[in-house]
Amino acid sequence: MNDYLAELLEICGEDDGEVADYIPELATADPDRYAIAIATLDGQVYSAGDADVEFTIQSISKPFTYALAITDQGLDGVLEKIDVEPSGDAFNEISLEPSTGRPRNPMINAGAIEAHALVAGDDADGRSERIVELYSRLAGRELSVDEDVFESELSTADRNMAIAYMLKTVGTLDDDPAEVVRGYTRQCSVSVTVEDLARMASVLAANGVAADGTRVLETSVTRQVLSVMATCGMYDAAGDWLTTVGIPAKSGVAGGLIGVLPGQVGIAVFSPRLDEHGNSSRGVRAFERLSADMGLHLMEAPESARSVVRTPKSQEEGRPSVHEVAGDLRFIEAERVLRGLEGEPEGDGVVVIDLHRVHRIHDVARRMLLEGVRRLRMDGHEIRLVDPDGLLPDPDVDVSADGSGDQYTPEVFDDLDTALAP
Ligand code: GLN
Repeated sequence: MNDYLAELLEICGEDDGEVADYIPELATADPDRYAIAIATLDGQVYSAGDADVEFTIQSISKPFTYALAITDQGLDGVLEKIDVEPSGDAFNEISLEPSTGRPRNPMINAGAIEAHALVAGDDADGRSERIVELYSRLAGRELSVDEDVFESELSTADRNMAIAYMLKTVGTLDDDPAEVVRGYTRQCSVSVTVEDLARMASVLAANGVAADGTRVLETSVTRQVLSVMATCGMYDAAGDWLTTVGIPAKSGVAGGLIGVLPGQVGIAVFSPRLDEHGNSSRGVRAFERLSADMGLHLMEAPESARSVVRTPKSQEEGRPSVHEVAGDLRFIEAERVLRGLEGEPEGDGVVVIDLHRVHRIHDVARRMLLEGVRRLRMDGHEIRLVDPDGLLPDPDVDVSADGSGDQYTPEVFDDLDTALAP
């Protein structure tokens, strides 16, 4: 993996664009730095290039602060103040949705400044502290603010100040605009490496669960954040990005860029020269290459469910018929199981549903399976479940034709052999 990443940096090594200089301190960055890291959900991190060089997180902070704002205020509370529509504008566009006065999304500065203000805290400092605390938990180490970049950006933050006063004027911002911009600027000045960013991204990839198994963010929150990253994370290049690279992402003007592959990995690249959209030039190129090489595009569907459901080929007279299922059971796999069960001839034959190779049953699949059990029973069958891990708890079903509440509970076995000859 490390060798592959080093090779990738070499292949995508040609650079163009300019280092951001509207924040004076960023203009002093070494433009040739180049690093990449990939973090798996169980905490393995691979990297290549300048992986221990620190830079400021900048706009990559936005999705994480948005997550905290939703955690604190609830999704509805946040949606009331910030919309989720791609703006097609540059990140620092001074604009609001005409009909509602909301920033168009939380990835452009207007929405991110609003999201920062929605984070709970006694005062501006309390808010910033909670934000850095969250980033640190996600990165798995204590992060801190680069005070030089912070001072430098704050002293030139006129545009963000204008945005905050605009938010105050239309009535969506309650706090003092200058204080909010100060806090937002601190959040952007948190110092990270690509490995930190890859780890942070991997927690989003794991539905909010950190590598050590502790939950940092709710699943519903990470789903919201990733959706917004997919549609708005790359600003006015979001459509181009989603079609070519195809994964939720967020860039920052210091040259960082993260990508999140749900259920798989968090990825981060760092290279300070930016393209015309304010996204890292070589970062974008590395992601394009990575996505193509490793088949990461989300819109490229995984293998169909066919391989995970094995239904009995031919019925042997008097023998139980076995429906074997493996893998992750979602809607589409459950549909295939039901189709198999539907093929059972009517009568009192024994039907075994073997779940011992299943590792997860989603709620919709659970309800579908139970409905299959109910209908088999109503047809006269005896149903046996092989479910050593208890993935289908309380499998009792209502089998009264008239809704009187008659229950049937299929017998549960630990392995197939005993289910066949109990
Ligand atoms: N702190 C920067 C700003 O507000 C973040 C922008 C970015 O990274 N795109 O201008």
